[in-house]
Amino acid sequence: MPSEVLKLTPPKDGHKILITDAGLRIPDDPIIPLVEGDGIGPDVTHAARTVIDAAVEATYHGKRRIVWYPVPAGEAAMFRYGEMLPAATLAAIKEYVVALKGPLTTPVGGGFRSLNVTLRQTLDLYANVRPIYWMPGVPSPVTHPERLDIILFREAEEDVYAGIEWAKGSPEAKRLIATLQKEYGVHVREDSGIGVKPMSEFESKRLIRKAIRYAIENHKRSVTLVHKGNIMKYTEGAFREWGYELARTEFAAETLSWQEVQEKHGGQAPEGKVVIKDVIADNMFQQLLLRPDEYDVLATPNLNGDYLSDAAAAQVGGLGVAPGANIGDAHALFEPIHGSAPKYAGMDKVNPTAEILAGVMMLEYLGWKEAAGRLREAVKATISAKVVTYDLARQMPGAREVGTTAFAQAIVERLRAA
Ligand code: NAD
Repeated sequence: MPSEVLKLTPPKDGHKILITDAGLRIPDDPIIPLVEGDGIGPDVTHAARTVIDAAVEATYHGKRRIVWYPVPAGEAAMFRYGEMLPAATLAAIKEYVVALKGPLTTPVGGGFRSLNVTLRQTLDLYANVRPIYWMPGVPSPVTHPERLDIILFREAEEDVYAGIEWAKGSPEAKRLIATLQKEYGVHVREDSGIGVKPMSEFESKRLIRKAIRYAIENHKRSVTLVHKGNIMKYTEGAFREWGYELARTEFAAETLSWQEVQEKHGGQAPEGKVVIKDVIADNMFQQLLLRPDEYDVLATPNLNGDYLSDAAAAQVGGLGVAPGANIGDAHALFEPIHGSAPKYAGMDKVNPTAEILAGVMMLEYLGWKEAAGRLREAVKATISAKVVTYDLARQMPGAREVGTTAFAQAIVERLRAA
C-alpha cells in the first residue's frame, strides 16, 4: 500500500511564467516542472536537462537559466503515492504553464486512462505539434532525407480522439442503427460497431490558427490543410473550408490562397506571404515521399496527422530522434515521441536525442531562440561526427557508440567550445 501523501515544494528561487492578455511573460529564471517519466524516462530527461542547461549557459552567460522543478508521475508515483498522476503534479504543471516530460508507461488492462490523455484534456492542449527534419548522418530509408523539413500541427481533441464509439450488439449501437434507419433512411448492418467522428469549426479553426501563426512568425512559405474532404464532406471537407475562411478573415494581410497565387500572381507567391493550400490525405503520403521540399507547415485533423507524422518521422530516422509537443492557448508540454522502452531502463544506453529536441522546442516556445538554435546545431554536429548511441551506431559504419550520458557530455563539450 502506498504510504505517503504527495506534497510538492516548489523551488525557492526562480519565477513563474505568467499568462497575460499580451501573451506569456517569461522571466529570465522560469520554474519549469520536469516529469522524468517511466522506463528510460529518467535516463533521457537527465541527459536533456544537462544539455539544455549547458546551451542556456553558453548563450546567456548566467543572465538566464531554467529552474527545474521535478514532479512525480507514472509508475514511481503509483508506487509511492498510489496515483499515476497525483493531483499536486497536475496542479504544478497547470500553475507553471510550460513543462518538459519523459515518456510514461500506459499500464495494460482496464482501470487506467492514459496519463497523456488526462494531461492533454485537463490542460486543454489541443494542438499536437511535431517538427520533422533530418539531421546529417542519421540513417534514413530515403535517398534525400534532407528535403523533408516540416512541422505538423495535429488536432488533439476531436475526430477519433473524441473516443465516441459503441460495440457491435450493444444497446447503444442497436438504438443508433435503428434511429439511422427510421429517422434518416440510412441502412447500417446490424452487426456493426458504431463510431462517431465529430469535427467542430471551433476546434478546427483554433488548430489551424496556431499553424498559420507559426508559419507567419517563422517565415515559412506555406500552410497545407490535409483532409479527406472528397469522401467526408462535412467533417474533413469542412476542415478545409474553415481553414481557407480563417486565413481570409483573420490573416488577409499575411496569407494568400493557392488559388489566388495561380489566378493573380502567375503561380509565383509574392515574397513574404504565406500560401494556404490543401492536399487530400492519401496524396499527402506520396507528396512527402516524392516532393517533400514543397511543404513547410501542415495542419491536420486528428487521424490523418497520426498516420502522417509517424510515416514522416520514419523518413528522417524514426522515433528515437523525433520530438513533439502538446500545446494549448498558453500551456505547453514537451516530450519525445517514443515510449518508455522498459527493457532498457536504467542502462544508460538509449538515445536521448528526441527528449533533447523536445527541449529545443521548449526553448523556442520560451522565445529563447538563440539557445534553441545552438542546442540543435550541437546535436546535429555530434551526430554528424558519428558519436551516437547504439540504435544509430548499428546502422552507421565507422560510428563511435556511446551511452546516454556520454552522448549528452559530447554535446555539452561542443556547446562550451562553440
Ligand atoms: P517504445 O517507444 O517505448 O519502445 C519501442 C522500441 O523502440 C524499444 O524497444 C526500443 O528498441 C526503441 N526505442 C524507443 N525509444 C528509444 C530511444 N530513446 N533510444 C533507442 N531506442 C529506443 O514503445 P512501446 O514498447 O510500444 O511502449 C512502451 C511503453 O511506453 C508503453 O507503456 C506505451 O504505452 C508507452 N508510450 C508512452 C508514450 C508517451 O509517454 N508519450 C508514447 C509511446 C508509448
